[in-house]
Amino acid sequence: MGKNGDLESSCVNCGSSLKIGATYCPRCGYHQRPELGSESQGLAPPQSRPQRSPAIAVVLAFLVPGLGHMYAAEWTTGLVFLLAGIIAAASMAFLVGFLLYPIVWIMGMVGGARAVERFNFPEKF
Ligand SMILES: [Zn+2]
Repeated sequence: MGKNGDLESSCVNCGSSLKIGATYCPRCGYHQRPELGSESQGLAPPQSRPQRSPAIAVVLAFLVPGLGHMYAAEWTTGLVFLLAGIIAAASMAFLVGFLLYPIVWIMGMVGGARAVERFNFPEKF
């Protein structure tokens, strides 16, 4: 008796000896409050921030390059795409815009959808 003293605790209800980590008292059945490590489990729920839709980002980027990124709160990238779209549209006067604009336009839609994924699941990137 007593050789396992460090491995035992007592029931918070009836005081009978328990193995450390026992969830229920074998004598009275009382649910023991876990004392170790329970605090670290109180993490904030991951859904504290509203999720956004990649489809909406694509639709916005379809209308205006950069809007998809802005929708995902990537303001700087969105502004770059917006300016690139304006420059590409303006360069249509020199024909090169007909090549440039579709590139900016498609990249804006693809990038906008990815930006939303980064926004929704930042831990994956
Ligand atoms: Zn007990």
